[in-house]
Amino acid sequence: MITWDHQPDGVVVLTLDDPEQSTNTMNTRYSAAMTSTVDRLEAEKDTITGVVITSAKDGFLAGADLRDVTAAIEAGTDIAPAMYAEVERAKAQFRRLERFGRPVVAALNGTALGGGFELGLACHHRIAVDRRDARFGLPEVSLGLLPGAGGVTRVTRMLGVTDALLKVLAEGKPLRPGQALDLHLIDELVDTREELLPRALAWIAGHPDAAQPWDRPGYRMPGGRPSDASLASMLPSFPANLRKQLKGANYPAPLAILCATVEGAQVDFDTALRIESRWFATLVGTRVQRNMTQAFFFDLGRLNRGASRPKDIEPSTIDRVGVVGAGMMGAGIAYACARAGLEVVLVDVDLAAAQRGKAYSQTVLDKAVAKGRTTVDTRDAHLARITPAADLSALAGCDAVIEAVFEDLALKQETFTRVLAIVGSTTLLASNTSTLPITSIASALPDPAALVGLHFFSPVDRMPLVEIVRGQQTSDATLARGYDLVRRIAKTPIVVNDSRGFFTSRVFGTYVMEGIALLGEGVPAASVEQAALQAGYPVGPLAVTDEVTLTLGRHVRDEARKAGAAAPTHPGERVVDAMIDRYDRPGKSSGRGFYDYPTDGSPKRLWPGLAEAFGAVVPAPVDMTDMQERLLFAEALESVRCLDEGVLASPADGNIGSLFGIGFPAWTGGVLQFVRTYPGGVAGFVARARELADRYGERFTPPDSLLAPT
Ligand code: NAD
Repeated sequence: MITWDHQPDGVVVLTLDDPEQSTNTMNTRYSAAMTSTVDRLEAEKDTITGVVITSAKDGFLAGADLRDVTAAIEAGTDIAPAMYAEVERAKAQFRRLERFGRPVVAALNGTALGGGFELGLACHHRIAVDRRDARFGLPEVSLGLLPGAGGVTRVTRMLGVTDALLKVLAEGKPLRPGQALDLHLIDELVDTREELLPRALAWIAGHPDAAQPWDRPGYRMPGGRPSDASLASMLPSFPANLRKQLKGANYPAPLAILCATVEGAQVDFDTALRIESRWFATLVGTRVQRNMTQAFFFDLGRLNRGASRPKDIEPSTIDRVGVVGAGMMGAGIAYACARAGLEVVLVDVDLAAAQRGKAYSQTVLDKAVAKGRTTVDTRDAHLARITPAADLSALAGCDAVIEAVFEDLALKQETFTRVLAIVGSTTLLASNTSTLPITSIASALPDPAALVGLHFFSPVDRMPLVEIVRGQQTSDATLARGYDLVRRIAKTPIVVNDSRGFFTSRVFGTYVMEGIALLGEGVPAASVEQAALQAGYPVGPLAVTDEVTLTLGRHVRDEARKAGAAAPTHPGERVVDAMIDRYDRPGKSSGRGFYDYPTDGSPKRLWPGLAEAFGAVVPAPVDMTDMQERLLFAEALESVRCLDEGVLASPADGNIGSLFGIGFPAWTGGVLQFVRTYPGGVAGFVARARELADRYGERFTPPDSLLAPT
C-alpha cells in the first residue's frame, strides 16, 4: 500500500499504491500501512534526510472510503464514536509525520481532495502537477461533513479564520492547481509528473530544518485569534451571514465547520484537532450527511461514470457541433460546446440573429475575463470556435446537430428534415425541446432511431444538468452518442424515457402548483414563499412561476389534455386561470405576475392585490411543516410515479435530476433519497403521505409501489 524507497542521499520516497483498488483511499489498508510507515520513519530517523510522499495512481489520495462509512451506518454501527476514533487515528499519524524532525514534501501527482489533501497539508511543502483535470481542496461540506483529518485546523492556521472559512472551508469548492497556488494551499506547480521528484529533493536539500509554522516559537495566526479585538468584532456576523445564506434550511455541516474553526482558533493546535474531531463526529450518520453523501458522491459519481449509458457501445468522438436556433437556449448551448473545445456552427434565420447568439458567449466570457477567471487568449480561442451562419448548409460536416428553434412540433420536424438533406446519416440529431415528446418529433424522420432529446437548462452556462430523453425508437447507439456529447462538454447526464414533461418538468410542475394551491387556500403569499425557502428551495414557487410565465404552464397543461393525458384537476389551476384571465398578470416577462416588477429598477415585490384576490379574511391555518412537506412530498410522490412508469430508469437519475435541474433541496439528497430516509423510512413516508392526503387531497395518496415490502 505504501512502498518505501530509501535513496542514497537519505531521502525516503513513499509511494501510495493500493494493490486492490484503482484509486488510493484512506481505507483500513492505508491506515495500517501508514502506522507502520511512521513507526519505521521514527525508528530509522538517523539515516533519513527527508521524506517525499507521492502516489503510483492517476490521482494522489482520496479521503476515507465512503463505501465503508456508509456500510457501517447501514449496518447500525454506533457510528459517532467509531468515526471519532478513526479520524483521531489518522490525525495522530499526520501529527507524527509533521513533527518527525525531517522535511516532508507532498508530491501531488494528481487530484487530492478531502483526506488526501489533508495528508498534503500535514507535509511541510506541497508541489503539484499543473494538470487540467487535477483538483485540490476540502469538499467535505458538500457531502454533509467537515474535514476531520486536520483540514479545518491546518487551513485555519495557514490562512486565518476569515479566509479559511470564506475561501476554503464553507463552500468546499474543489480548486484547480492555479487556484490552490494562489491561495497558498499549494507551494509550487510543475508541468509534468517527472519534475516532481527532482523539485521535492531540491526543496528538502534547501530546508533541512523544515517545521510547520504553528510548531515554531512565536507563531501568530494570520488575521489574529478570536480573542483579538479586530477578529472579535467581526465574529458575530459569521453565524448571522450563514443563517442568511441558508435561509434557515437544514444544513448542520456549515455550522459545525464554523464552530470548529472559531473554537479551534482559540486554543493550542492539538486541542484544536480534538475539537475538530468532536464536531466531525456529530455529523457522521445524520440524515443530512447520509443524503448528501449518497447524492453528491455515489449517485453523481455513478452517473458521470456512465451508469445510464447503454453498455457495450464504443465511445464516440464529437468535434464539430451544429446548433440550430440562436435564441436564449441555442446561444447558451453554443457557448457550452465552444468552451469545451468543440467547433460550433450556430445557425438562425438570418446572420444578425446568429451573431446575436454568438454575442452571448462574448458577454459571458468578457465577464469571466473581468473577474480574472479566464484570460483574454482563452476567451478569444473560445469565441473563434463559434461560426454564426444564416443557412443550414453551413452544417455540412457536423458530427452532431442540436436543434433549439421555437417550441413548435411542425417547425422542429421541418427543421430536421432540412438538416438531414445537408448532414450525413452518421450525424447525431438532438432536440432541446422542453415539452414536446421526442417520439412525436422523430415520427417525421426517415430514421427515428437517430434522434435523441438533449434537454438543457437555463442559463446553460451555469446549469450543470442535461436530461437525455430516449424516444420510443431512439437507438442505444444514438443514446450513447448523446451521452458522450454531454460528458464531453462536462455536464452531468441523466437519462429518462419519453413522456410529457419528461422527468424534470413534470416533477417541477407539481412543486409550483402546490405552492399556488396554498395561495388559493388563503395562505399569505409571503408565507408560501418563505416556507419554500426555509425548506431549502432556492426560489419560491410563486417567484419561479413568474420566471417561466403562468401562460407557459397553462399551455403545457392544455396541450397535455388535448393529447388525451389523464391529468387530474389540480386546485392550483383555479388560481392560475384567475391570474391570467381575470387579473391579466401572466408573469415576469410582461412585468406583472405574482410579483410586481418595478421599471425603476427597484426589487420586485409581491403584488399587493394577491391578498384581496385569493386571501382569506382570516389566513388559513396551515402550519409551516405541513406547507414545506406538501411541496417536498408533491415532488417526491411524482418522482415515485415516474420510477413506476419507467420514465426514470434509476433512483440516481431522479435524485441528481431533481438536485441539479429543478432546485430540490440539497439536504434531502434528491427526490427519491428523501423518501428512503424520511423518519421511519419508506413506511414513515407512506404514513405521512396518507396524512397529507386526508388533509389536503388525493394527490398525496402514496403509490402502491411504496407499499410493497422492501
Ligand atoms: P428563443 O425564442 O429564445 O429562440 C429560438 C430561436 O430559434 C430564435 O432565435 C429564432 O429566430 C430561431 N429560429 C426559429 N425558427 C428557426 C429556423 N427555422 N431556423 C433557424 N432558427 C430558427 O427560444 P429558447 O428559449 O431558446 O427555446 C428554444 C428551444 O429550447 C425550445 O424548444 C424550448 O422549449 C427549449 N427550451 C427552453 C428552455 C428555456 O428555459 N427557455 C429550457 C429548455 C429547453
